[in-house]
Amino acid sequence: MPAKVDMDKIVSLCKRRGLIFPSSEIYGGLASCWDYGPMGVELKRNVKEAWWKVVVHERDDVVGLDTSIMMHPGVWAASGHIDNFTDPLVECKSCHLRWRADAIEGQRCPQCSGELTEPRMFNLMFKTFMGPVEEEASLVYLRPETAQGIFVNFENVVTTSRKKLPLGIAQIGKSFRNEITTGNFIFRTREFEHMELEYFVKPGTDKEWLDYWVKERFDWYVKLGIRKENLRLRQHGKDELAHYAKDCYDIDYLFPMGWSELEGIANRGDFDLTQHAKCSGKELSYYDAEAGEKYVPYVIEPSAGVDRSVLAFLIDAYEEEEIEGEKRTVLHLHPSLAPIKVAVLPLSRNEKLTPLAKEVFKQLCPSFVTDYDDSQSIGRRYRRQDEIGTPFCVTIDFESLEDKQVTIRERDSLAQIRVPIGELNKVIEAKLKGEAFDASTLWATREK
Ligand SMILES: [Zn+2]
Repeated sequence: MPAKVDMDKIVSLCKRRGLIFPSSEIYGGLASCWDYGPMGVELKRNVKEAWWKVVVHERDDVVGLDTSIMMHPGVWAASGHIDNFTDPLVECKSCHLRWRADAIEGQRCPQCSGELTEPRMFNLMFKTFMGPVEEEASLVYLRPETAQGIFVNFENVVTTSRKKLPLGIAQIGKSFRNEITTGNFIFRTREFEHMELEYFVKPGTDKEWLDYWVKERFDWYVKLGIRKENLRLRQHGKDELAHYAKDCYDIDYLFPMGWSELEGIANRGDFDLTQHAKCSGKELSYYDAEAGEKYVPYVIEPSAGVDRSVLAFLIDAYEEEEIEGEKRTVLHLHPSLAPIKVAVLPLSRNEKLTPLAKEVFKQLCPSFVTDYDDSQSIGRRYRRQDEIGTPFCVTIDFESLEDKQVTIRERDSLAQIRVPIGELNKVIEAKLKGEAFDASTLWATREK
């Protein structure tokens, strides 16, 4: 089943409308690194906030955490990353390109058909040195996942949060993986952001909690507008499971390059806490007062990539359509994800319209992320807002000066209603929440 939009169109829209730029572009760019522009940073923040809202704020059994990127090297020895976080690397003897041995077909270089070296295991963690001396003793790693910062703080959080199990600890932050091959825009990059939840449960209840979180996380994407037919659930085969996992599901999305992982939900058992207890010498267990017993909790881990979620939301929202003989490109983003909620557009840059338009902007911007644009024709300005997914445009025309009413244009239906400026915030708030707001009482007497 082919996806409806190719990646080039998404990359081009992102560049054109200030969503995502190649990193260090004036120096020719840096492989697999991307910068989020003025619109992209809003979209990305909205994705993270939508996750934090349902995973942390709307629950009484999950708390948040923000741990450091560099951690004690012992953490990565205990977690198995130093020994196991590796990919088999082969190098072409002719063109010297490097490949992941398990990601290429055949025995020859995919670029030039040259002969390949024997595979060697390549560790994916970035290394650096802490302090002024570059020596073995000051070697540290950039974290390849945010999860370990949560495990090593388990005791701190349990004793300070006064919460009982099941208890989740959530974290959003940067992770780094020195991938051999990257690509597909922001899908696989060496620096990326993680949204991870470690949900600690009583052993024996882990299976049902895994099912629970698989459903919760799947529904999150659907509620935020991703079409169900573009999502699928895939259980890992026994041969595919990571060294720490008892069971794992992937939520896959139908990207332009085919089905690829959006999020993994793993049952990590008691692997992490047991390992850290053993290697640190500190006891990491939980006293269950109700059951009167002490045990090492099991962990269910939904782990999602922020950047690939952003990409999936962009692709799923993208549409090219023809309206009355005119083409338009539109992002049907969920209102909570849209970078800009309302755009204030005076009909033209006119000295009579500007003061009122600015007044409307000032009235809206404390409540909604609002854009003000008065350059170029109104048609071109609508198209720009459509392309960044702005749900509502508010137009101020010469009649607004007389009747103190403005026109709201809806992105998806293109329906227009006229409302008094005094009611504007109320109407937009209701519409953003998806409430069926009855604006009939506010309609202008005038026909559009
Ligand atoms: Zn080659």
